[in-house]
Amino acid sequence: MPSLDSSVYLDNAATTRMPDEILESLYFHLDKNFGNANTKYKLGSFAHDFLEASRQTIAELIGARREQIFFTSGATESNNWVFMNALHHMRATGKNKVLCSSIEHESVIEPLRHLERLQLIEVESVEVNTEGLVEVDTLRSHLDERVGLVSIIHANNELGTIQDIQTLARMCHENESHFHSDCVQSVGHIPLDVRELDLDFMSASAHKFHGPKGVGFLYVKDPRSLVPMMHGGGQEQGMRSGTQNVPYIVAMAEALQWSLEQEKSFTEDFETWQNYLFSYLSSQLDGCTITGSQKSRLNHLASFVIDGVDTETLLVLLDQAGICVSAGSACSSGKLELSHVLRALGYDPSRARGALRISYSYLNTFDEIRYAAEEIVRAVKLCRNFSGTME
Ligand code: PMP
Repeated sequence: MPSLDSSVYLDNAATTRMPDEILESLYFHLDKNFGNANTKYKLGSFAHDFLEASRQTIAELIGARREQIFFTSGATESNNWVFMNALHHMRATGKNKVLCSSIEHESVIEPLRHLERLQLIEVESVEVNTEGLVEVDTLRSHLDERVGLVSIIHANNELGTIQDIQTLARMCHENESHFHSDCVQSVGHIPLDVRELDLDFMSASAHKFHGPKGVGFLYVKDPRSLVPMMHGGGQEQGMRSGTQNVPYIVAMAEALQWSLEQEKSFTEDFETWQNYLFSYLSSQLDGCTITGSQKSRLNHLASFVIDGVDTETLLVLLDQAGICVSAGSACSSGKLELSHVLRALGYDPSRARGALRISYSYLNTFDEIRYAAEEIVRAVKLCRNFSGTME
């Protein structure tokens, strides 16, 4: 069994590690706080108190009210819920169109495609510019009276580019369209306030901000207008039945608090690390291009396309050097597919094949970043030499 602990983990946009203090707290809640939060004896009300305190913590950290937070199994569920809910409301108001950007995550694209295939809604994709940003005029040109909902990812998972959600959401509201944002990659990484962003719905997953996998939440501005996701025992204000996973929900709230505290002290370091990666890799490697906007982006994610390299091979070589990085989600669930995100930015398939994403966290060090950067350069040269000898 290889020592998993010794790997240099730089794929934090895929998932993050839980810090020791949150793991310890999680063990406590799994062991001692095992009661069903919906029962009336002391053990149940102990769990219930933690459940509601966690809801309160999460709400406060994103500028929401407690009753606007619904716990889910993660952002995939939250995103699906938003579209099922929209379907219900659009039918009542005579609207039938949903807009989403061309760089959404599959958990937005696929449920929308499903509803479109069933001919229940019409879906229109809003193009991004070559920097990966949705321009105001582009979105405006898609808005009309039939648009019931617009869904635009806050920070993109492959590029790290951050959209001007506030401006886009305001414009949608002027058009009487609801606005949803998949904030999976931004929650816990940048301070975020749902009122300032003017959101009607927001999706999040705990494991992207150092919490456990399989738990997340949905923020809903007007919870009275929500339709249930799951029917059953009536948990989550009757909207999402099923016994809540209190230990994981507590860990999610603790992780969000922890991440936002860390964020304050890491801002400068992360910018330095990102600048180092950008300048080192671009200067050491010909044909290495930074993807996405350099101005409006997360500071813990560096993304590139490297010409003449197939990232699949590169990732194997880097894995041998103990480095975990990714090709973006160019091949989600092991499928060898070219990234729709890079294609949306105008990269042709041969270049999109060389996509590389490096994403670090509060648990990384600069030494790890430097080691990875040097190994990436070595591995790219090896790949290129090898493919050169094959030609
Ligand atoms: N949206 C984005 C932007 C993501 O990066 C992910 C996870 N890769 C998801 C949604 C889905 O999250 P989960 O798999 O936790 O449901």
